[in-house]
Amino acid sequence: VESMSVSARSRIMRAIKPKNTTPELVVRKALHASGLRFRLHVSELPGKPDLVLPKYNSIVEVRGCFWHCHACIGERRPRTNSAYWLSKLERNVARDESNLRSLRRLGYRVKIVWECELHPDRAAATLERLFSWIKGGVVAQ
Ligand SMILES: [Zn+2]
Repeated sequence: VESMSVSARSRIMRAIKPKNTTPELVVRKALHASGLRFRLHVSELPGKPDLVLPKYNSIVEVRGCFWHCHACIGERRPRTNSAYWLSKLERNVARDESNLRSLRRLGYRVKIVWECELHPDRAAATLERLFSWIKGGVVAQ
C-alpha cells in the first residue's frame, strides 16, 4: 500500500536524523570518559568527520545503518517510492566513499562505527575494539 507521500516521509526522516544521534553520543561519552581528546564535526575536512583525534591521526565516523546503507538493513529498505529512496541512499554511499578516500589521502586513519554495533548488547565490545584501534595510531612526538 502506498501509504505515505514523499514529503511526509521526508519530514519524518528529517525528524529522526538529528545532528547528535544517540549512537554518536555513545561513542563521544565513551571516548571522553577514557580521556581521549577529540574534535567534533571538523568542517575543514572532507565530509565534516564526526570525531577527529589529532594525537592519534585518527578519525571515527559513526554511521546510521539506514542512511548509509549498512548490510544489516537488507530487507528493511523502504518500499514506498523506492526509486526515490534508492537514489538518495546511493548518493549517500557515493559521498561516504569519496570522503573516505579524501581523508585517507590526507593521511588520516578512518574507522567506521555502525549504529547496529552500538546496540546495548554489542556496545562494550565495539568500544573496546575502537579504543585499541585508536591507541594503535599514536603519533610519535
Ligand atoms: Zn548496521
